[in-house]
Amino acid sequence: MQYKSTRDSQLRYSSAQVIAQGISAEGGLFVPEALPDLSGRLEELSRLDYRTLAKEIFGCFLTDFTPEEIAACVENAYRPEKFGGGEPVRLTPLTENGEQKYLLELWHGPTCAFKDMALQILPHFLTASLKKAQPGKEALILVATSGDTGKAALAGFQDVAGTKIAVFYPRDGVSPMQKRQMATQEGENVMVCAIEGNFDDAQTAVKRIFTDDAMKKLLEERGMLFSSANSINWGRLLPQIVYYFYAYSQLVRTGALSLGEPMDVVVPTGNFGNILAAYYGKRMGLPVRKLVCASNQNKVLTDFIRTGVYDRRREFYATASPSMDILISSNLERLLYHLCGEDSAALRGWMEDLSQHGVYDVGEEVKAKVQDLFYGGFCGDGSAFQTIRELWDSEGYLCDTHTAVAVDVYRQYRKECGLPSVPTVIASTADPYKFSGSVLEAIQADLLTGDDFQNVEALEKLTGVAAPLQLRELKDKPVRFSRTVSKEQAAAFVRELVQAGEG
Ligand SMILES: *Cc1c(COP(=O)(O)O)cnc(C)c1O
Repeated sequence: MQYKSTRDSQLRYSSAQVIAQGISAEGGLFVPEALPDLSGRLEELSRLDYRTLAKEIFGCFLTDFTPEEIAACVENAYRPEKFGGGEPVRLTPLTENGEQKYLLELWHGPTCAFKDMALQILPHFLTASLKKAQPGKEALILVATSGDTGKAALAGFQDVAGTKIAVFYPRDGVSPMQKRQMATQEGENVMVCAIEGNFDDAQTAVKRIFTDDAMKKLLEERGMLFSSANSINWGRLLPQIVYYFYAYSQLVRTGALSLGEPMDVVVPTGNFGNILAAYYGKRMGLPVRKLVCASNQNKVLTDFIRTGVYDRRREFYATASPSMDILISSNLERLLYHLCGEDSAALRGWMEDLSQHGVYDVGEEVKAKVQDLFYGGFCGDGSAFQTIRELWDSEGYLCDTHTAVAVDVYRQYRKECGLPSVPTVIASTADPYKFSGSVLEAIQADLLTGDDFQNVEALEKLTGVAAPLQLRELKDKPVRFSRTVSKEQAAAFVRELVQAGEG
């Protein structure tokens, strides 16, 4: 299987090149040149456990990896003890209104958010890819994070041989729990640092380091190269396809569906990565009827799906579902590439419009295809909180703010779509305790305090649902990283990391 870039269809790349490089030289995203058709293998696939299924699917895409290499990546990434034992994801039925809907819980990993599903395996894909594409080189991963990604990347790369990772977060822009998760991170190859300012300042600091000549020279001397763990890397998208196949298998196995019957899929969306993986699943023969794209108040995707115009010129809202507070959904570029007949000139034009004017219009034909595949809806914090409360009151199910957005948009979709009800898989993307303040506020606001650990305890007492050990134990873990630096000082910090452990 070869890959090409969304902005230049001429060149071809191997999967190792694509994963090692992250983004193509002219700024495009890597996409597979063709998708495998698994429609004839659904029955066979539905009998597999998660890890075996993952190996099968990865084998279709990573054709320059040996089966042994793929198996090693999977076994290392999805060890049962890292995911609370058993299978890495769970499908939980909700009975509300007698409709068949299931929460696909993707947050049983080490950092309690769905990003673990990809970031636990990316380091293994990356080191294997470097061996093929850049033999002898080690990777220095730089991450600017507004919260979940930083911790999940740290946990994924912790003590992975041949890698070092530096994470920068805005001093004033992450929750106390997220800060604590990062500051207590273990591992010999990790470094965490707060940056004075907001997320943009952290991102600017990282970009400067990437392009700093002295830094490039230092890395060269040490046999290292820069790499990125952000969500446009194909190595992060590919692992997400697996759990949609797995969810379908579970529905077939439990008799909720007969083989070949369709399901709907609902995904709380930010950068459009998770829902794009479901789209790829559909293209590969998974019986998905509608892809429901759920946004919070930053509803740029809802508007796009309804009008065909992507317009980021709008107010940015800091919501209770912060991991979806995004105005540029990078992975949408991949979808548009497929829907416009792989016309890279059109893609270049739209992306140019976006960076120059903050807006682009994909025209009637592409819009019609988007609307055929997707339903877009959004929900504000008020409705999300109400959904959390209702699910708790009526079903005894505790869900986080991001998942609540998806459940609310699912209900809107059911009211408006005019289609018969089919079993529906709703992606549940974070442990409710990761956002305990908001969840507590939704269920019983008068118990809310300014301290996240007290909120966790109050929520446990109120609901009887145990908080995950990874979050509870943070309270007593030693803080390893407490420095805050200015944008200008960030490079010096990375230099220390590069030189660490070399006598
Ligand atoms: C990142 C994230 C999302 C959004 O996923 P995308 O792939 O960026 O669309 C949703 N929920 C949570 C909890 C996240 O961390």
